Amino acid sequence: MRAVSLSDDVTAELKDWLSENWDPELTVGRWWERLGNAGWSAPALPEHSFGRGLSRDDSIRVQRTIAEFGALGAPGGLGLMLAAPTIATHGDEEQRHRYVGDIVTGRAAWCQLFSEPNAGSDLAGLQTRAERDGDEFVVNGQKVWTSGGQVADMGMLLARTDPGVPKHRGISYFALDMHQPGIEVRPLREMTGRALFNEVFITDARVPAKAVIGGLNNGWAVANTTLAFERAGLGAGGGSEAGGIATPGTVAGDLERRVGDVVRQGVNRRTGRGGLFLSSERTLFDLARANGAIADPTIRQDLMRLHILNQIARYMTLRQKALRAGGGDIPGLGNMAKLSMSQILRLSREVGLRILGPYGTLHAYSPEERQRLDQVTGMPLARAVTEQALFSQGPSIYGGTDEIQHNILGERVLGLPREPANDRTTPFKDLTKNR
Ligand SMILES: Cc1cc2nc3c(=O)[nH]c(=O)nc-3n(C[C@H](O)[C@H](O)[C@H](O)COP(=O)(O)OP(=O)(O)OC[C@H]3O[C@@H](n4cnc5c(N)ncnc54)[C@H](O)[C@@H]3O)c2cc1C
Repeated sequence: MRAVSLSDDVTAELKDWLSENWDPELTVGRWWERLGNAGWSAPALPEHSFGRGLSRDDSIRVQRTIAEFGALGAPGGLGLMLAAPTIATHGDEEQRHRYVGDIVTGRAAWCQLFSEPNAGSDLAGLQTRAERDGDEFVVNGQKVWTSGGQVADMGMLLARTDPGVPKHRGISYFALDMHQPGIEVRPLREMTGRALFNEVFITDARVPAKAVIGGLNNGWAVANTTLAFERAGLGAGGGSEAGGIATPGTVAGDLERRVGDVVRQGVNRRTGRGGLFLSSERTLFDLARANGAIADPTIRQDLMRLHILNQIARYMTLRQKALRAGGGDIPGLGNMAKLSMSQILRLSREVGLRILGPYGTLHAYSPEERQRLDQVTGMPLARAVTEQALFSQGPSIYGGTDEIQHNILGERVLGLPREPANDRTTPFKDLTKNR
């Protein structure tokens, strides 16, 4: 007989809880309130931050169980993925209660106000400044590539609070209220036709001193926690089984919808094919079989290469899991996982467009166009391929570009010498900068 594991206990407890609490007549907001306050929205968080201290595996199992039960999963987005675990790690009790509480119950959506026009890979070179004014800071500067900025209630803001020390030491991490006159969000349209990210202009915006997370001028350490969660999430393919079909926060307008309706629409949309990368690999195999491209030996070869890369990525995750279960780790595995994701996406784009042939040049930018395109091509799956091809440049840039992952592996894992630079010892105000 198989021993009852912690995972079995958790799953049984969750199923009981769902039977008692799931009600499709609730609004999305009321449902997320129940889910979050019971510790099921982000069960990997510690108990002091609305979690249950579960392992990553168990927490994925929780998401899956909620989806299989037919209930709406946790409020997704950067709040749950990045802000909540960062604040759970560095925030004080009041911050954890307020900010994490609003995230796990979907009341607030968050965006990440890190990158600037002159500070991406060199994030510590950021020039947005926050100057003390009594119990508040006054913030001025510009951010860019802010995903979800147009629906965010709050922002994870990095700003310079002391230009008189070397760049990594004079940065603070704030929880910034996005609903104030000093914040202007301008969407940027991508070549997919969508506008996922934005420019954010900050002019005399105000943030209370008690909204500094992790201590004044300690923002670099806090930001690195956020980036570590970002890499871990992205390398694993991101996303949650049951989430993502309703948007948290007060702007998107999903909180007042009937939760049963949201789930019904989500089930229709979900592929149910098990994970982003595997699902896209199967899509490519299906398409190649359907349009005869599978007869081309070079396409078969590329599809096999893709399959092998996906399997290697899977083994890498399993290896990490096994090591972590035994208390060990492999330095740099998160960076390698992210590089492997970039490689898989690039190959998917190349082979996908070759399978589609001339149809790969067609892409639809509105629901009506999508319908017409499906009729013309007779291949509804083609849209998923062109969408992925157009977006495939993004993941090898965000969360640290491929080159930056290589640098980290070289310097921190292989022990190679750093590039010579004076920016770790010279006060930020004395460094040469682009304006
Ligand atoms: C889809 C998408 C979503 C994003 N969402 C967000 C968000 O929500 N919030 C946010 O703050 N940011 C976000 N970003 C921004 C992202 O973090 C930056 O684009 C990224 O850090 C790279 O910075 P950059 O664009 O300024 O490029 P740069 O840093 O200017 O780099 C340009 C090129 O130079 C290379 N390079 C730079 N420095 C080095 C070096 N030392 N050694 C070797 N090569 C180097 C880079 O690899 C790259 O190829 C997003 C980006 C994308 C594409």
